[in-house]
Amino acid sequence: MNWATSRVAELCFHGIGVPDRQLEPGEDRFWVDPSTFASILDAVRDFPSATISFDDSNVSDVIYALPGLERRDLRADFFVIAGRLDQRGSLGCEDVRELGRRGMRIGSHGMDHVSWRQVRSASSQEREYVLARRMLGDLTGTEVTAAAFPRGAYDRAAITTLRALGYEDLRIIDGGASSPDAWLRDRYSVTRFDTAESIAAYLASPDGGLAGRLQRTVKRGIKRWR
Ligand SMILES: [Zn+2]
Repeated sequence: MNWATSRVAELCFHGIGVPDRQLEPGEDRFWVDPSTFASILDAVRDFPSATISFDDSNVSDVIYALPGLERRDLRADFFVIAGRLDQRGSLGCEDVRELGRRGMRIGSHGMDHVSWRQVRSASSQEREYVLARRMLGDLTGTEVTAAAFPRGAYDRAAITTLRALGYEDLRIIDGGASSPDAWLRDRYSVTRFDTAESIAAYLASPDGGLAGRLQRTVKRGIKRWR
């Protein structure tokens, strides 16, 4: 079996252009310039198995991402923070409906963008895992079964709870590739230091060779089981 062709790489974008809200500490490195974003999308077209997603539901999802994707006949998954709907700088309810109408898939990124490793009480689980998903499902008229871990933070307890609640598609962000049918899928988070060339190099070898793959497997094992 050829590893390269049997695994899929996913790019995760956060913000594009200039943010219109207060950023969290360290978040600015995940905001990319609009022209770089466009050139990265052009590069992605050379990798038909590559997939794309957007976290954090910044308003740049509809200003830059949606038109850029449609121009290239690409589709993506959008992981929305339910508690930020209609806040300045974030997607509004109508934006989320529009993304759904245009063939984009909506997933949950929780209610308050808190680490799901800290979500332990029944009431916080209800808010982050159940209520957020229900709000997004009510908007799009579809059942939301996909979620991306806020801040990329996950562990065994969170995964077990989410699976029990019927989540079928969970996304992490450790930077490797995944089997296309896996219910826990890895992604690479695009930063403002990336270029079309760096992304093309990543997509050509998303697991970074055997050494990088083993290293990530160990890292993921530690994160998942602690
Ligand atoms: Zn996030």
